[in-house]
Amino acid sequence: MANQTKQQELDAIKQQIIADKVCADLAAQATQLVFGTGNADADIVLIGEAPGKNEDLRGEPFVGAAGKFLNEMLAMIGLKRADIYITNIVKYRPPNNRDPLPEEKSAFLPYLNQQINIIDPKLIITLGRHSMDVLLPGLKISQVHGQPKRYLKRVFLPLFHPAAALYNGSLRQTLIDDFLKIPLILEKIND
Ligand code: URA
Repeated sequence: MANQTKQQELDAIKQQIIADKVCADLAAQATQLVFGTGNADADIVLIGEAPGKNEDLRGEPFVGAAGKFLNEMLAMIGLKRADIYITNIVKYRPPNNRDPLPEEKSAFLPYLNQQINIIDPKLIITLGRHSMDVLLPGLKISQVHGQPKRYLKRVFLPLFHPAAALYNGSLRQTLIDDFLKIPLILEKIND
């Protein structure tokens, strides 16, 4: 029941983004809004950068190669996509997969914060530098990856982006090692 209400609240934010015409230039070039999917009542929310080509076509975050790697890492800690909630900072595909612009990240931030507040997860995992920058400003990912941070009454875990780690052997292992810390981090939050 709580879950149902949370999902309805999330749906309302999705409609609000459309009604507010957030980043109309990006919207005009994208197939659709990629809002977020998964369990509206999840303990863990993962936040990526922006949809790529596959995500733009499917309307779901992380359905391409990076998403497949992410699913493999979730399986390593006994989780499925249906157990977590996943979204991006920027919710329309930037043309040619360019980096999201600072103004695009700021434009979507109030909606991302509302998404987070509705789900009210125990742990927020940022994937890559862009999502870390908007939620945990001023940190360097090379220095803080894999270390939980308490900030504004929430617990964050900054991780490298799975797309960056996919074809880089040492970064890939670092990301896997960081991912394997998640169950213990959750356990400590529950204490
Ligand atoms: N990379 C991201 O940051 N987000 C996606 O949804 C897909 C790839």
